[in-house]
This record gives sequence, structure tokens and C-alpha cells, in this order.
Amino acid sequence: MRIDIITIFPEMLTEPFNHSIVKRAQEKKLVNIYLHQLRDFTTDKHKKVDDYAFSGGAGMVMMIEPIAACIESLKKERDYDEIIYTSPDGEMFDQPMANSMSLLKNIIILCGHYKGIDERIREHFITKEISIGNYVLSGGELAAAVITDALVRLLPGVLGNEVSALSDSFQNNLVAPPVYTRPRNFRGMQVPEVLLSGNEQLIEEWKHDQSLERTKVRRPDIIKE
Ligand code: SAH
Repeated sequence: MRIDIITIFPEMLTEPFNHSIVKRAQEKKLVNIYLHQLRDFTTDKHKKVDDYAFSGGAGMVMMIEPIAACIESLKKERDYDEIIYTSPDGEMFDQPMANSMSLLKNIIILCGHYKGIDERIREHFITKEISIGNYVLSGGELAAAVITDALVRLLPGVLGNEVSALSDSFQNNLVAPPVYTRPRNFRGMQVPEVLLSGNEQLIEEWKHDQSLERTKVRRPDIIKE
């Protein structure tokens, strides 16, 4: 998979992608992530990429020309399955969306700032708009990091069997069961006996019951009949 991210703050994304699973996925060439500085695509000598909104009002708007130039230069090189804009009014990002997007080959993620981007970009260049939650961030970078992380860990070969993504929350419309590690006894707080039994079938049943119980209590909204 190839992910091109367009941003005016590429430094905000270098660290999040430079550790742990996303870092290893890049080293194994299972994903290629490219950060593009939007300011490189302006012809303005002060590298300006925002301007006042027509009709006035508070806040600057990201201009159409540099964004169009950046997207067009990428599209000249290859086809893209989706050109995504991160936006609080976009489609809500969730695990099913991450699952299906992880099958795509090339995507662009455009990070907005200020009051947002010129509407004509959204109308004519963007193919998908994604929100990561019902709150407003100062920029799209953290949203792009969230989306990228969720996609990359689903790519075949990224996670080993021992941490298979299929046993995580939201797959099967259930949240994950509780997990424990050593010691068995911490100040009298015990690990559930069944997990030490060695009986695989009992353990699987216990995990499923726990998942179901937790989902009923914590996330009744995601349970399917
Ligand atoms: N004026 C806009 C908010 C702009 S916030 C509005 O009221 O809808 C600045 C940028 O941050 C946006 O352009 C978007 O790219 C990003 N952003 C903010 N909140 C977000 C969210 N919940 N999900 C995804 N991106 C978000």
C-alpha cells in the first residue's frame, strides 16, 4: 500500500510513523508513506497557502491552487483509489471502514488547517471525506496519523499471528476480552483460574463470554443480532 499525505506540518507526522508497528511495516516495505509539504506547491514567494475568506468572517482558508497542483502532480505519477480529506463533517471512521480501506493500493490524505480548505477542492478533487470523531482538531495531521495507523496494522504480514488483528475490538462486532500477564498473584489479586487451566476450549469459551458481556455493558450499540 502507498499513502501520500499532504500537509503544511510534515514534522507532525514523522515521529508517529517512526516507531513500533508502522515503522516495522515500512521497513518490511509493506507500506510506503510519503509526506508532501504543501508549501512546495505554491508559486507565492512567501510560500503562502492560505487566504482570507470571501465574505469575511474569522479565520483563514486554505487556497485551491497549491492543493490542486500537489494532487495533480501525484496523479500524474500513478492512479489513486481514493483522495481523502480529513474533516469533522466527513464519514465517521470505524473498523469496518479501516478494513475495507486496507485493501486499497494508493491513497492520498489531505490535511486541512485554519477554517478548512476552499470548497471547490472538496467538490472537484476529493473522493472521500473522513472524520475521526465528533470534535474539532486544529489540523488534519492527527486524523491522518490515526487513519494511517489503523490501516497499516491490517496489512498482511504487518502483525504476527500472536497479535492477529482479528482478535482486536470491533472485529466481529465485539470488544476484546480482558488480558493478564505475570505475576499470577499480585497482592491477592488473582488471574482468573480458567486462563491457567491449559484447556484451550474452555479458554476460548471464557474469552467469548467475556467479550460478549463487556460489549453488552460497554458498547451495546455495536452488537449485531
Ligand atoms: N471550520 C471547520 C473546522 C476546521 S478544523 C469546521 O467547523 O468544520 C481544521 C482542520 O482540521 C480541518 O480542515 C480538518 O482537516 C481537520 N479536522 C478537524 N477536526 C477533525 C476531525 N474530527 N476529523 C478529521 N479531521 C479533522
